[in-house]
Amino acid sequence: MVSTDRTKEQIIFLKPEFRQMVWGGDRLGREWHYEIPGSNTGECWGVSAHPSGDCRVREGLYEGELLSELWKKHPELFGNTGLDRFPLLVKIIDAKADLSIQVHPDDAYANANENGSLGKTECWYILACDEDARLVIGHNAKDKTELSDMIREGRWKELIRETPVKKGDFILIEPGTIHAIKGGIMVMETQQSSDITYRVYDYDRVVNGRLRELHIDKSIDVITAPAGRTEENILNADELPENTMNLLCSCESFKVWKMDVTETLAFDQAYPFLIMSVIEGEGEINGRPICKGDHFILSDGFGAVTLRGKMQLIASTI
Ligand code: ZN
Repeated sequence: MVSTDRTKEQIIFLKPEFRQMVWGGDRLGREWHYEIPGSNTGECWGVSAHPSGDCRVREGLYEGELLSELWKKHPELFGNTGLDRFPLLVKIIDAKADLSIQVHPDDAYANANENGSLGKTECWYILACDEDARLVIGHNAKDKTELSDMIREGRWKELIRETPVKKGDFILIEPGTIHAIKGGIMVMETQQSSDITYRVYDYDRVVNGRLRELHIDKSIDVITAPAGRTEENILNADELPENTMNLLCSCESFKVWKMDVTETLAFDQAYPFLIMSVIEGEGEINGRPICKGDHFILSDGFGAVTLRGKMQLIASTI
């Protein structure tokens, strides 16, 4: 029999799931050394229990189990939250071309209109980007009526706000915020475990002889008008204090940290669970080697954590 103590203190390494997208590229293969399914791989789902891409445990006591199963069978590993599903999803996005201009609903709207799905708050850490890279965040309509007119009349240039970004920028995208990642950008995204996206505009791009479906009415329903100030949601997190946990965001849906390890970073894992992804370099966690591209979860009651090496990580919890 396995003792309670041993089953509780787990580093749960996960095998990523990949998604091919019209706008995807091959950097997840070239720069991250993942075995990608094709040269249009847009997303690596590093930590996910979502039915559209449910990760399996890579090794150890629970090797081969789906994260969704583990969540149901062993809620104690995740702090017995009482939640009906694993609440977060962590992905790496390689945007070779522009993503559609889109918006996500909040929990209440998604629950009522999308079969009980969660809404989607998301945040991005810019891993890499071209020198003149830009994101679409927010819009210029003064109220819902003007928003609706501008969308229905296709006045995109007038409507959409673009903002320049650089490596290390961190951006929180709340539900109701119109947004798009543009070509040449790689991001690490931490989000609620939801796949509900309303596409507002897809640049009239033809995919396999067809235009992708738009969701105009639902988009107008959920877009916040007027939009908030874009700058308030952008933070530069490229050069933060080393060997400490730097909190980037704490909202209703998640907390996210960045860690720049250059020597030793020790802390106590006292959250229900802690998701970690190595985004640069290599090192070790409690003596076990880890490197860029590894995604894992530290279980509830894990206790003392010691990171050593030269690496950067993004961590999150609820
Ligand atoms: Zn989004």
